Amino acid sequence: MKSLTEHLWFETPTRRAFINITPRVEKLVKESGVKEGLCLVNPMHITASVFVNDDESGLHHDFEVWLEKLAPEKPHSQYRHNGYEDNADAHLKRQIMGRETVVAITDGKLDLGTWERIFYGEFDGMRKKRVLVKIIGE
Ligand code: ZN
Repeated sequence: MKSLTEHLWFETPTRRAFINITPRVEKLVKESGVKEGLCLVNPMHITASVFVNDDESGLHHDFEVWLEKLAPEKPHSQYRHNGYEDNADAHLKRQIMGRETVVAITDGKLDLGTWERIFYGEFDGMRKKRVLVKIIGE
């Protein structure tokens, strides 16, 4: 069995951001030499997500509006967690958008649907964060 473990680093200039990381993950799949296997991608932080969806700016705006309705950033006083660090909304947004994604590797490539792309979702940015990529297979 072959395997590859790597970290991708992020430091977004805004508190929230969606970044298409598909090309970076594809590059690692190629480096791994795995032809048939699985690729796990997850943030190593509890205020960020990795998810699969459409690379369409209107949809990303809709996600932002929807998440702000579900878990508004302010006022900070509405959350008990904010007694510690004022990022309760980021924990809640991450929970909705998910922790990780697993994509099949077939014939040496990420086996994604036509419009599927892998995204890093940042909900408490402007600091260094990392994403784990673990590739296993043959
Ligand atoms: Zn927190």
